[in-house]
Amino acid sequence: MGYQTSLHIRKQEIEKMMAEKREQLMEAGTELSIFSHQADDVVVDLYEREKNTGIMELLEIELEKVNEALQKCAAGEYGKCESCGGTIEDERLKSRVNTALCQKCAQNKKKMLH
Ligand SMILES: [Zn+2]
Repeated sequence: MGYQTSLHIRKQEIEKMMAEKREQLMEAGTELSIFSHQADDVVVDLYEREKNTGIMELLEIELEKVNEALQKCAAGEYGKCESCGGTIEDERLKSRVNTALCQKCAQNKKKMLH
């Protein structure tokens, strides 16, 4: 299976999760207006909503990364390190399909952050 295929699969997974979350958020919104007089429930609903909104944001970020990787695939630049221009290790791409850095550059970046 090529990277492009796994990226497409990942994209579909994310889109499916986003659709499910969106549905949950909409349901939560309806319940909120119907049962708005039950204060305790509203607090729980709001908490759940907040949590779902956070998950949605994370999914959006990941979808963006997958789309970027797909664009790179199309341009024939997938698997190229953004920092040094070298080839990203196969093993690394398998475990992190969205990565834009090779092992060495990722480690250097980590060191710089700490
Ligand atoms: Zn590199």
